[in-house]
Amino acid sequence: MGLMVLKLLTEGSSQLGYTLSPQQLRLFELYAQVLSYWSVRMNLTAITDPEEVQVKHFLDSIAIATVLNGVPPESRVIDVGTGAGFPGVPLKVIRPDLRLVLLESIAKKVTFLHHLLAHLGLDGVEVVMGRAEDVARDLAFREQFPVVVSRAVAPLPVLLELTVPFCRLGGMIVAPKSGDVIKEIDLARPALEVLGGQLKEARKVELAGLEGHVLVVVSKVASTPPQYPRRAGMPSKRPIGERGPGGRSSTGVASV
Ligand code: SAM
Repeated sequence: MGLMVLKLLTEGSSQLGYTLSPQQLRLFELYAQVLSYWSVRMNLTAITDPEEVQVKHFLDSIAIATVLNGVPPESRVIDVGTGAGFPGVPLKVIRPDLRLVLLESIAKKVTFLHHLLAHLGLDGVEVVMGRAEDVARDLAFREQFPVVVSRAVAPLPVLLELTVPFCRLGGMIVAPKSGDVIKEIDLARPALEVLGGQLKEARKVELAGLEGHVLVVVSKVASTPPQYPRRAGMPSKRPIGERGPGGRSSTGVASV
């Protein structure tokens, strides 16, 4: 794409408060190249237009950094359901001081991620293949992360069950959302309560091309009960708080 045409990225980043160094621009340029090359060969992302990649992938991911100002260097961040690396990899380019775990369940995407990371030469990034429901039961991952990020993986009530268990007490979960975010948050209240989360803020992203995008920030205020997350597939099959056929609100515990 050439450095000159990363104009949208450069301008958008500066509006968010980040002046990209030539090295950072070079990393984004490489990322865009690897992404477009692989997208043709495997169905990695629906967004391939170079301008859209800059706004809907890169800037949308970078916006998360604005809520991480108080997060100290060396902190561990996990990106749950990272796909082709969003939002984790752009975040790592903006905050190279953070340590990153990219979690993804699909093998071909994991292969892409290894290839991408080798290309970008980023340090302090680990790729883990698995489902969030299983990996969050591993004590090396459970309640270990001060920051959990996840984009476009599930509606909020489901997403919380996949993310909150990774977050340590006092940490936060950041999920970019668009659409009827107020309603989504409302539907997620039972899940927040059950999992030990509390809504901290819903911050609007003020950038051209990202109208209606909101960063939902959740604080981890209580330990997640051991029965969560439920086994793989259950969080989306029977979201916490959803009314079942009998009109009962599900906590997922007494599942029929
Ligand atoms: N986060 C990326 C983005 O915003 O471009 C990818 C979004 S993609 C729509 C959803 C990704 O989450 C897919 O790559 C899928 O394999 C992964 N995923 C969905 N459920 C998951 C789970 N339970 N555990 C781990 N990964 C999951």
